[in-house]
Amino acid sequence: MAELTKVFLDEDEIPTHWYNIAADFPNPAPPHLHPGTQQPLQPDDLAALFPAGLIEQELSTQRWIEIPDVVRDIYRLWRPSPLHRARRLEQALGTTARIYYKYEGESPVGSHKTNSAVPQAYYNREAGRMRLTTETGAGPWGSALAFATQIFGQSCEVWQVRNTYESKPYRRMLMETYGASVTPSPSDLTAAGRALRERFPDTPGSLGMAISEAVEVAAGDPDASYALGSVLNHVALHQSVIGQEAIKQLAKFGEDAPDFLFACAGGGSNLAGISFPFLRENIEGRMNVDVVACEPAAAPSLTEGEYRYDFGDSSQMTPLLKMYTLGADFVPDPVHAGGLRYHGMAPLVSHAYHEGLLRAIAVKQREAFAAGIEFARAEGIVPASESNHAIAGALRQARQAAEDGTSPVILIGVSGSGQLDLPAYSEYLAGTMLDA
Ligand SMILES: *Cc1c(COP(=O)(O)O)cnc(C)c1O
Repeated sequence: MAELTKVFLDEDEIPTHWYNIAADFPNPAPPHLHPGTQQPLQPDDLAALFPAGLIEQELSTQRWIEIPDVVRDIYRLWRPSPLHRARRLEQALGTTARIYYKYEGESPVGSHKTNSAVPQAYYNREAGRMRLTTETGAGPWGSALAFATQIFGQSCEVWQVRNTYESKPYRRMLMETYGASVTPSPSDLTAAGRALRERFPDTPGSLGMAISEAVEVAAGDPDASYALGSVLNHVALHQSVIGQEAIKQLAKFGEDAPDFLFACAGGGSNLAGISFPFLRENIEGRMNVDVVACEPAAAPSLTEGEYRYDFGDSSQMTPLLKMYTLGADFVPDPVHAGGLRYHGMAPLVSHAYHEGLLRAIAVKQREAFAAGIEFARAEGIVPASESNHAIAGALRQARQAAEDGTSPVILIGVSGSGQLDLPAYSEYLAGTMLDA
């Protein structure tokens, strides 16, 4: 039989539990703080914005948290996701490395975000919260939450950064197709939005502004919650299904462990999801995987930020999170990887980095898209703009292996599909892409 090209798992091999790395850190991760008292955050401090089930997960140090049957049943729409051996890419590169990629682009909205959107909608429904608000930049998170909330009969209100609302209408159409209402931010619907519009009449908007609007609405209605698509501990937890599946799938390829794991890092959720189960293997001495976070050079929070307490939004409404940050009012260059344009990094990822459990590199977007195009031409899949940063990191390593004559096993987290990012690809091909 020819060698395997991809491995699917059976549906009953979807993980039954989420993995929480907070249980296994050699030194515990610093707590979130209340911005007023500077004391460790208590469950009640979050009750206006989040339901009890998610607050418990946010503060939990329990290693395994059972995935509710309802959520696991919905996961079957797209999980387990496939693990591919990138044979054609290996040939095209002339590398001696064995390259594998875990592809999250087959989820209904084309990215890993549904892995957390579904449980977030579920725990809100359990708490009787039938109205969810959120922000979105380019739109993947907004569409994931729009999809998840309609399953549970909830309404979904998305504040989308005004310039993407206007320049990238397809994501808005996708969100509306799932039944969400989408408002360009800043808007006239909230006090925060009205104040921002008065101060900056022609502003293109920002994630920070959109977060303020979504948080204001959720905080003002006891039946509403706010939902965040990355950064927080419970989001990293939900994404751990990715890495748990990848460990089983690599074994079916006959591989004991990857030597390198590359994933892109914006807020850190897909990196956490694929890498934390491998970091557990490292911590317990069974593997020695070199985990590499690939961040955009335009928002290099790990490689150039400071490790300190900071706000998650630019209007200082969130709890204080201990993270690598460029400062809550940092505004990145307008690179295409909208999902990576964030000033901070998930506290759990930041802690792992601080403790030396993973390392980080920064990649400029032209190198990222060059890598994405090589990948697309060899493997057929057009990766998301964000995922291209992980592929670029892996290609550096694969080329190094060819020079050194070594044959490492390289695993790439390909977090999403780039079908809605094609304008960025054509800008790269036309030679007009910003060198940032
Ligand atoms: C949102 C997004 C990202 C960045 O978010 P993380 O939380 O860092 O994973 C990366 N890739 C895709 C496809 C996304 O939609």
